[in-house]
Amino acid sequence: MRFLMCPPDAYDVSYVINPWMEGNVKKSSPQAAMGQWLELTRILKERAEIELIPPQPGLPDLVFTANAGLVLGNVVILSRFLHPERQGEEPHFKEWFLKHRYKVRELPKDLPFKGAGDALLDREGRWLWAGYGFRSELNSHPYLAKWLDIEVISLRLIDKRFYHLDTCFCPLEDGFLLYYPSAFDAYSNRLIEMRVPEEKRIAVVENDAANFACNALNLDCAIFLNKASAQLKEKLGVAGFDVREVPITEFMKAGGGVKCLTLRLTEPVRSEIRAGATVESRLIELRGHLLDSGLLDGALDATVEAGGSFQIVEFNLGKQRQSTSSASIKISAPSNDVLEKILGRLIDLGAVLAPSELKDARLETVTQAGVAPEDFYATTIYPTEVRLNGHWRRVERQRMDSVIVVIDAADGASAVCQLLRELEVGDRVVTGVDGIRTVRKTESRDNRGSPSAADDFKFMGAGVSSERRVELVVERIAWEMRRIRDQAGKVIVVAGPVVIHTGAGEHLARLIREGYVQTLLGGNAIAVHDIEQALFGTSLGVDLRRGTPAQGGHHHHLRAINTIRRCGSIARAVEQGILTSGIFYECVRKGVPFSLAGSIRDDGPMPETRMDLEHAQEEHAKLLAGVDLILMLSSMLHAIGVGNMTPAGVKLVCVDINPAVVTKLSDRGSVESIGVVTDVGLFLSRLVQQLGKLEGVYVQQPTFQQTEH
Ligand code: NAD
Repeated sequence: MRFLMCPPDAYDVSYVINPWMEGNVKKSSPQAAMGQWLELTRILKERAEIELIPPQPGLPDLVFTANAGLVLGNVVILSRFLHPERQGEEPHFKEWFLKHRYKVRELPKDLPFKGAGDALLDREGRWLWAGYGFRSELNSHPYLAKWLDIEVISLRLIDKRFYHLDTCFCPLEDGFLLYYPSAFDAYSNRLIEMRVPEEKRIAVVENDAANFACNALNLDCAIFLNKASAQLKEKLGVAGFDVREVPITEFMKAGGGVKCLTLRLTEPVRSEIRAGATVESRLIELRGHLLDSGLLDGALDATVEAGGSFQIVEFNLGKQRQSTSSASIKISAPSNDVLEKILGRLIDLGAVLAPSELKDARLETVTQAGVAPEDFYATTIYPTEVRLNGHWRRVERQRMDSVIVVIDAADGASAVCQLLRELEVGDRVVTGVDGIRTVRKTESRDNRGSPSAADDFKFMGAGVSSERRVELVVERIAWEMRRIRDQAGKVIVVAGPVVIHTGAGEHLARLIREGYVQTLLGGNAIAVHDIEQALFGTSLGVDLRRGTPAQGGHHHHLRAINTIRRCGSIARAVEQGILTSGIFYECVRKGVPFSLAGSIRDDGPMPETRMDLEHAQEEHAKLLAGVDLILMLSSMLHAIGVGNMTPAGVKLVCVDINPAVVTKLSDRGSVESIGVVTDVGLFLSRLVQQLGKLEGVYVQQPTFQQTEH
């Protein structure tokens, strides 16, 4: 058995390229390091031959020879270091291997690979475990499989303390494995569990992992490592291993352990094993304000978070601030399933498969009513197109959380969003990721500050407006509502009973009376408390003028429901002169349609409240058609429900005292969503005041002063 090592004459912690180096720059002792390295060498020499590569001034980490490359038989795949600090090591290792007659393989320059630090042979030689996520790219794995003619199992590292596979994973003799499961994502843990039976998996706890117990060297039944707990030693003992602690604390300051200091030069080739790497890749394109909108970052993060890796093949940066950029990116994943999940997320962000990869959308037939094929594409709020017979078709009735059904007609196929429950046997549903694209407008963050177009909401940003900005936001919304009214557009109000409890019912009633609201959506409670207020002057029994509980008032809302039920409907109560004021009175008088969706909390309910939620959703969806602006007033349930039914492009204002509710709505990622964290009573009174100021005034684009976000 032969190992390659490098004396630590030039070793030091001179820079920070991993979490272990932080706080340790210039903190290692050259004498102590030399002492520890000599002791390790002495112990190894009892069982193996040691070859040395000369140290090089200015290359302190050359001592970690495991990162030189990956050796199998007489082939070495040289490392490609990610960090410039270590790239200077490459020619020295290359020279050493050439001099010792190895067949040297070199990866493309821009493809990081950390040699035996990130690639570990199963001790039976059946396959190669290869890590990625920090220092090695997944795309290097197919090269390993091809050049070494071996099956490669890709494992994704997720804990930055364990940035190389050999810091948290050590295949042992007789099929055992010493590893720290939390350093890997769930998919990789599954792969490990499929290959290594439970009785052979020796999982270490965090403390042992942090002591670099997995950065170990296994020679026959001996395991050399920095330090192990009594429990780990016992586990390894039961498995037949003898643990030998060799302190290398000086090298841990740079993030290296026993294994990092050695490179096994005598990995045998198993001629009967022949396979490849299961890395799947596809090319996508992104266009828009990629950098300043954060879209590129978002897409790359989404890729890595979902277990994939990327390589930017081409990037064209827009020359001016307002011009757009484009990028061509190769996305890779360890399986087709993972790749499709990643591509699905990227398509939702507006990515398109490259022209060379374009295919028609994949369709699968529904075999059980109300149940989509397993692999269905779930829609977003964004306009979506599907490719059918070579042509892109815009999907109709766009909404989120539905599936796309393709319908054949004499004049060509069309596509429409449908809910799961609407699916019928024989419907053809779009599945997978081929032939799907979403149309996303990317906005330059810099541009958001300066309103230009008359209908431009974006100066307020897709975010939450805190109290100090409410005034400005109200001014803008008032102007917008006035414009929509003048142009015969459509404003929908979604309201909860807090509107009444805060005494703002009269303001909403006024907005309806003055023609600013074209539809009202909500639940049973807004009607119950509005009518309670109209009939008894109370809301939930509280006298709204005095702010004190009215005697017997706690039953007022039930009496209000009963009165309307006796009349048969709210409209009849108005006709009969029983209901003479309030929000619903104004709706009936102005012919403003409303839809009330039931809930488990409802009393009564009011005759109009739809307790059949499928019908309620359908009625809401019909009323939402053609809407320009939705004002969501203090109802988490109904605001989120309506938000889910609304496609991008509709201006949406969510007013709630709870920032979590407005954040949820404005997190739709659409620039037209505004969150206003404030008391709804205050908001409505300011809105009415502001609209009053605009009455009789010729409405033109106001000049808004820039405020900080
Ligand atoms: P919800 O919890 O979904 O929403 C209430 C929202 O109001 C919350 O997000 C809260 O943060 C916000 N809020 C509270 N005070 C506020 C203030 N001063 N200013 C701004 N925002 C404020 O509850 P909901 O929508 O009122 O009711 C849920 C369901 O229960 C609805 O369908 C409703 O019709 C029903 N309900 C029925 C009855 C009844 O029949 N008697 C009574 C209450 C609710």
